[in-house]
Amino acid sequence: MSAGSTLLVRGGHVALLDDELTVLNDGAVAIVGNRVEAVGSAADIASRYDGAETIDASGKLVMPGLINAHTHLYSALARGLVADIEPSSSFTEILEHLWWRLDRALTLDDVRLSAAAGAIDLIRNGTTTIIDHHASQVHIDGSLSAVAEPLNESGLRFNLCFEISDRDGEGARDAGLAENERFARLEASRQVATRRGSTGGPGSSPDSGRGDGRTGASVGLHASFTLDDGTLERAAGMAADLGVGCHIHAAEDVADVEDSVSRSGKRVVERLEAFGVLGPRSIAAHCIHVNERETALLAESGTIVVHNPQSNMNNAVGCADVPSMLGSGVLMGLGTDGFTASMFDEMKVANLIHRHQSGDPRVGHDVAARLCLMNNQTIASRLFDDRIGRLEPGALADVIVLDYDPPTPLQTGNFGGHLIFGLTGWMVETVIIDGRVIMRDRELTTVDSGDIQARARERARDLWKRM
Ligand SMILES: [Zn+2]
Repeated sequence: MSAGSTLLVRGGHVALLDDELTVLNDGAVAIVGNRVEAVGSAADIASRYDGAETIDASGKLVMPGLINAHTHLYSALARGLVADIEPSSSFTEILEHLWWRLDRALTLDDVRLSAAAGAIDLIRNGTTTIIDHHASQVHIDGSLSAVAEPLNESGLRFNLCFEISDRDGEGARDAGLAENERFARLEASRQVATRRGSTGGPGSSPDSGRGDGRTGASVGLHASFTLDDGTLERAAGMAADLGVGCHIHAAEDVADVEDSVSRSGKRVVERLEAFGVLGPRSIAAHCIHVNERETALLAESGTIVVHNPQSNMNNAVGCADVPSMLGSGVLMGLGTDGFTASMFDEMKVANLIHRHQSGDPRVGHDVAARLCLMNNQTIASRLFDDRIGRLEPGALADVIVLDYDPPTPLQTGNFGGHLIFGLTGWMVETVIIDGRVIMRDRELTTVDSGDIQARARERARDLWKRM
């Protein structure tokens, strides 16, 4: 879409996802270029933008696209994996038997198809922004560009990083550091060029010092238990020099804590803090086995923590104490850890797990909405230096339309109930990202999904043999 073209999404229930969870019945959204310019009643918006291209969303639900704050597209070709995988009795065995074998087998062509196929699944489920953590420990150089290529083609909004680790030796570690730096510098120079070429609009001035809001980079680190002191120091220093955050798995399993204490006398978050890994642009995924002191460190440093309940239950690693971390002021968001492409599924589980875990039916009723809808907006807006995740004037235009005809009123204040008990990813019909229609009436407009899925299936069969 050109800078000045206008698109209206008209009619239906429009959920703004503001603090009050406002729902406009018979509302409309006006998009100019890549931003929301106005929201309001359908009649008012239609009269102000007479003649604009219009998507008819009558009787449907219109809401901002969803944000996945921690995922792994490299695992997309592992679904239904048929390979000789030993049964695992612990989290570290799951990594050794499955995920580390997969990431060592991935070629750059596998990485490209995995990202392309994963992107299709995300878009179909209404996700418009992802923060991805990539691993392909033999084919490292250029791997982030191999992820970015199909994502750019699909139109998704993304932040990427490569998983630095000492687990495969010094060569892979150094290549991992170099790949993060290469990609972050490439992103920075591309964004400067985009800003120079921009015709204006909020956040797009060449002197604003901000990115273009659509793509970005972080410095990726696997986890404390596969990282030596020197590597943590180099990675955190590099992130500071590049002006980006770190993205790491923290205290996902008790084995991470035991390793950290035995090698440093510090618990995981304390060890990360000592090397400068924490900070407002850094993401610590999981944080299940953290104590009060570590929770305070996460809150004081402004570090983003991402909760991934389905993956945690699947790996039997425990449950993060989300209510207490939120109460301590930690900015906590929601991700899928690659377990599913549907943030709707993840929200349902986030709603249930804390109640189940605490044995207290008063706990957890607002966790899903707070993490996924409110806090993921804050996280994405911080990492992309722009306004993402709300339907309000000036925000980047990521909008989804769902075929949702509820048997009860959908109104301001009760969106959480519809989210948990009504909505699913399969209701998503139309997806707009950055003002572009990426999926219309369930048909992807930017890529040939049938061709990608067919090639991915062929590639997956070959990949499984190489594992
Ligand atoms: Zn992860």
